[in-house]
Amino acid sequence: MRVLALLDGTLADPESPVVRVDDLGLLRGDGVFETVLVVDGRPRELAAHLDRLVASAAMLELPAPDRAAFDRAVGAVLDAWAGGRELVMRLVHTRGVEGGDGTPTGFVLGSEINPATLRHRADGIAAVTLERGFDEGLARRAPWLLLGAKSLSYAVNMAALREAERRGAADVLFTTSDGLVLEGPTSTVIAASDGILRTTPTALGILPGTTQAALFRAAERAGWVTKVESLRVADLRAADGVFLASSIRRITRVHTLDGEPLTDSAALHAELTALYESEY
Ligand code: PLP
Repeated sequence: MRVLALLDGTLADPESPVVRVDDLGLLRGDGVFETVLVVDGRPRELAAHLDRLVASAAMLELPAPDRAAFDRAVGAVLDAWAGGRELVMRLVHTRGVEGGDGTPTGFVLGSEINPATLRHRADGIAAVTLERGFDEGLARRAPWLLLGAKSLSYAVNMAALREAERRGAADVLFTTSDGLVLEGPTSTVIAASDGILRTTPTALGILPGTTQAALFRAAERAGWVTKVESLRVADLRAADGVFLASSIRRITRVHTLDGEPLTDSAALHAELTALYESEY
């Protein structure tokens, strides 16, 4: 089941082409996107996702996404959805056609969630650390590299996931060349130890995660301490639990890192998942 809505709120056939071959989003990955979880007809963290879409677009110096139009298209997808109780909604905003008048291309596509993601949510995953090839100061020194923008140029992220698969794992934790933990190709890394939840600062050049933010809000209310500070791989090995968080996978536990088992965090995972769910 898939539902496609254009920004004027009309539905289109997801099996038929709607994007031109000279769209710069297609030719160069020159655009931004968001992936939003919908449960029982309610999108989670939609305002935060739209804020991040706007922020990413500003980093790419794209025209600002029309929030009202995206809201309308999201509503059209929700109204037409007749699939399962959860869906993944992709919001896409590109620079538009090459040599055109600068009008961005935008659409919202609702689809079923990949069954592997649901399995990983329940069972946890093995992950590997892979070097991302930059040091912790690069995001600040070189803003043109767009570190921390959710651009459509995800080929590197997808290649890293294939490398993980070659190494017998399901996911990746990127590290800086100076050994700090960054993020997953499509997730935020969270470590839990002694009542403290930790995640990496976005200043290192990673995305601000909406799922991590929601979990930290709920955890703080429940008495957890939350910290945003640099983490090393050794910190993950010493932690009570390591988790990858993102809209669609929610909170997924990492049970094995680089082939070595981590501390069993099944009970902690249940606790953090319940906290995250209490936000909705
Ligand atoms: N980091 C990257 C690179 C991502 O692609 C994503 C989501 O896809 C995240 C982090 C997690 O963000 P969110 O929790 O808002 O889905």
